[in-house]
Amino acid sequence: MGNSTSSQSWLEVYEEIFRRYYSRADLLLPNDFYVREIALQTLYGENYIRHLSFSTISELRRAITERIPRHLFYSSAKYREPANTSMDEKQWMGSDLVFDIDANDVEECTLERGVTTFRFCKICGYTASENIKQCPKCGSLLLKFEHVDNRCIRKALLYLDKLIDVVLSDLNFNVLKASFSGHRGFHLIVELDQPFDKMNQETRRAIVSYIKLDESAATYIKTHLLKLDKGRAVPLPPKISDGGIRRRIAKELQSMPIDEVVRKYVAGQLSKLSFSDALRMYKVLETHIDDVIKRVSIPIDPKVTIDTTHLVRVPNSINGKTGWIAYNIKKLDISEFSMDHSLLSPEEGVKLKIRIDIDLPRLEIIDTTFSFTRGEEAVLDYVYASYLVFKGVATLTDVKS
Ligand SMILES: [Zn+2]
Repeated sequence: MGNSTSSQSWLEVYEEIFRRYYSRADLLLPNDFYVREIALQTLYGENYIRHLSFSTISELRRAITERIPRHLFYSSAKYREPANTSMDEKQWMGSDLVFDIDANDVEECTLERGVTTFRFCKICGYTASENIKQCPKCGSLLLKFEHVDNRCIRKALLYLDKLIDVVLSDLNFNVLKASFSGHRGFHLIVELDQPFDKMNQETRRAIVSYIKLDESAATYIKTHLLKLDKGRAVPLPPKISDGGIRRRIAKELQSMPIDEVVRKYVAGQLSKLSFSDALRMYKVLETHIDDVIKRVSIPIDPKVTIDTTHLVRVPNSINGKTGWIAYNIKKLDISEFSMDHSLLSPEEGVKLKIRIDIDLPRLEIIDTTFSFTRGEEAVLDYVYASYLVFKGVATLTDVKS
């Protein structure tokens, strides 16, 4: 029993699904959301509608169930006049600290070919792996398709866990909200009070450098940890009970499948230490230092964290790049999240019929691998079908619910 979409555009189908979702969605906004700018892109429009502000959640809910957003954001900044269209006249009062980890930026992911990228022509189905702008067959503008495997998202999630640990333990901020972006990454929002919310870009840049460890920081740490001075004892690895970077390094050493003595030492479980143990540990540290530093460097997007006027995707809103929910991870517990259709779908049990518009390579979407050819039709669960539709490589033809 399906409603044919021939008379109804595919966007109208999504409009209904999104509206039902937004009428009851548990949108996670800061308590002081009335001093935040709300911005959205509608399902139909290309442009962003900015400088909105609402004094109650129900006002916001009314607005977004009337004009359905494809993307919904709020400002990390707090303003005296959030709805003022002039950034200068908004009167900035301070900003939260925002982190963004994109699976695309996880080095192991790109090395292991976890990212699929190509260009395609929506009109004639032409696909190209090289970076060309125009379709050589029909002259249309080519669109870009980018897909990240589930295992890369897993890796990004593990970095989110490390990031949460650093923010809690080293920066000592404790009002944190973690969420899936609804696409291929994770967000961590750190709500700040005075005086920390007044941190300027310079200070935020220093935080980025501490978390991300650029090359010069990495070289410095490496040299420092491995420095052999004549006539002095062999340097020992850092311990978990140390602070800062040393603690981060010790934690990585402990989690790695390396020498048992090292793992005991960093955890503070080694009561006696012989010279040969010390020497052995030094060798282990020397062997693994590059790998350890790589694991300690959290691939956050510097631009996002430095920006004091960043627009944050509302946790639990729908991401219009995929149709998935930007799922809020409860209690900062990463085991609470998995790429599961029950967490990502705004509505249970919806099946969509789609027609594939181009020849697709094998794609692992969430937990299932698909390989489709142009013209093929399929009835899929909401999450899979919507992913392909919003990515522009499939057309919605029918709803089965
Ligand atoms: Zn073409």
